[in-house]
Amino acid sequence: MTHRTCTMCGMEKAFDQFNKHKGCKHGLSPTCRSCANTVSKACKQANKAQTYATVRAWVERNRDRSREIKRKWKEANKGAVLAHTRARQARQRMAVPAWADLEKIKAVYNAAAELRAKGFDVHVDHIVPLSGKDVTGFHVEYNLRIVDASTNMAKGNKLAPDVVPIAALDLA
Ligand SMILES: [Zn+2]
Repeated sequence: MTHRTCTMCGMEKAFDQFNKHKGCKHGLSPTCRSCANTVSKACKQANKAQTYATVRAWVERNRDRSREIKRKWKEANKGAVLAHTRARQARQRMAVPAWADLEKIKAVYNAAAELRAKGFDVHVDHIVPLSGKDVTGFHVEYNLRIVDASTNMAKGNKLAPDVVPIAALDLA
């Protein structure tokens, strides 16, 4: 007996394609490694959105304390903060083509700032991410939209056509 059938994909695979699992038949997990990975990846994705919502709710209830924690962290991690900012700026510079309308881009960020001032938790989102896994978007006005911050965090650097912008901007 050197093979077993994965309960998920139904393929017969060698024992070394299964993670060890005490108490299971042959001491191996019933699902093959590749299926187990798929499941754990999906869990992580879902958890990420959930974690962000939980953190967001805590921040909401502890505004002063959270601001103080953030300030202290930034103070202690100046290098990391700067590196992150500079990397984002460099990414944006490289992604700004000659035909980008800087005034219109600024208008989108201004609109987002106004919404934040009114208490809406919004981000400016690149519809096609600047640092996407498969594609790289441009930092141009028509690749920008204002979305709910938690939706945006859950989206990460993936393409998510189903993210609903919360503010439609008339850029024409
Ligand atoms: Zn499998």
